[in-house]
Amino acid sequence: MTRVVVVGAGQAGASLVARLRKDGFDGDITLIGEEPVPPYQRPPLSKAYLLGEMELERLFLRPESFYEEQDISLKKNAQVTAIDRDNRAVLIGDESIDYDMLALCTGSRPRLLPTDLSGVYAVRTVADVDLMAGAFSPGKRVVIVGGGYIGLEAAAVAAKRGLNVTLLEAADRILQRVACPETSNFFRELHQSHGVEIREGVGLDRLEGMGRVEKAILSEGTEIACDFVIMGIGILPNTELAKAAGLSIDNGIAVDAQCRTSDPRIFSAGDCCSFPHKNSRLRLESVPNAIDMGEHVARVMMGSDEAYQARPWFWSDQYDVTLQIAGLNAGYDQIVARAGAREGAQSFWYFMGARLLAVDAANDPRSYMMGKRWIESGLSPSPSDIADSSIEIKKMAAS
Ligand code: FAD
Repeated sequence: MTRVVVVGAGQAGASLVARLRKDGFDGDITLIGEEPVPPYQRPPLSKAYLLGEMELERLFLRPESFYEEQDISLKKNAQVTAIDRDNRAVLIGDESIDYDMLALCTGSRPRLLPTDLSGVYAVRTVADVDLMAGAFSPGKRVVIVGGGYIGLEAAAVAAKRGLNVTLLEAADRILQRVACPETSNFFRELHQSHGVEIREGVGLDRLEGMGRVEKAILSEGTEIACDFVIMGIGILPNTELAKAAGLSIDNGIAVDAQCRTSDPRIFSAGDCCSFPHKNSRLRLESVPNAIDMGEHVARVMMGSDEAYQARPWFWSDQYDVTLQIAGLNAGYDQIVARAGAREGAQSFWYFMGARLLAVDAANDPRSYMMGKRWIESGLSPSPSDIADSSIEIKKMAAS
């Protein structure tokens, strides 16, 4: 009987094993995760769960009984320490589990600045957020390092909970790595209107305190007194296992169009791997990509030789704004702003010449849906039509 082993019981791993069973795979499936809980969704960790508005069980992608019902052996609290490719086995300490096909869905971990001080938190796991919960009370002063989506979402939750929030961004503007200046301006104003102090173009030099963090010292010398710190300065793909096993690494575990690593019996999906995309390689850090890639690996394991086609989309919730993003904006040379039909709705459209690349839509699901549809089918509306909010988006021509 064919044995499939999946390392990493997160979004991609869980999607992979569920799809295998759904498509009729009748071999052995073992899903191995180092966390103490069944696979769960991470987005609420910086949103409803951090806010204290969501129960732990509601984070779970499926009830734990699902794995038993589907005859999937779920191993929790189990860290895979090595891959023995010669004997086709993974090792969990002294325990060895054989595979015929292996998938690495090891995700990523937050980048952290080295410090021995307590009161410095990351937002990646349930354990991280549970650890932080005690510090999250009204009137407390928090410094958030990093103005990407995770840092901004944490800032929104903290401000809503009545904390005093200072957010530091070393680049010239928040969201610089991922969005246009217009989107940065939109979110800067939103946060400032909720009392968050945003400091851009200034990095964190060091943290100081007696055992527990008491102040942040900025690169230009200013000190900010604080009760705790949240680090949101990006993530690193978990490639160590793959690297130690001699697999190719290139901005993550390198896979081919079918999501195979340099060992044809070993696949990879999700945050931890990069895949071929338009003469280059792409690594995406998003739920939709983890689901789609995990399911793609399942189909290839079942005999498909289709190439993985990424359909990038992402979302972020901050205060009462839901931002939806479709497409990849790299290479844009023009931004077109469009006011949505509903009050407060706003979208920013990324064009390269006449070609639509991506759209950031804030509280504007209609623009997001149309933008996504056009991008996925290679169509572009004209920038001048987009700019004219008197033209209904649904009635716009695209070619
Ligand atoms: P993960 O879900 O991280 O799963 C990997 C698992 O592998 C982990 O449980 C890890 O512990 C385990 N593992 C690693 N190494 C080993 C080992 N050696 N042995 C055993 N287990 C191992 N995306 C969106 O699209 N929208 C959002 O709004 C959004 N918000 C987010 C908010 C937060 C706070 C975070 C942290 C992420 C957010 N993301 C969001 C990103 C999204 O959650 C990730 O892209 C997605 O979880 C990636 O899935 P994955 O399976 O690749 O990795």
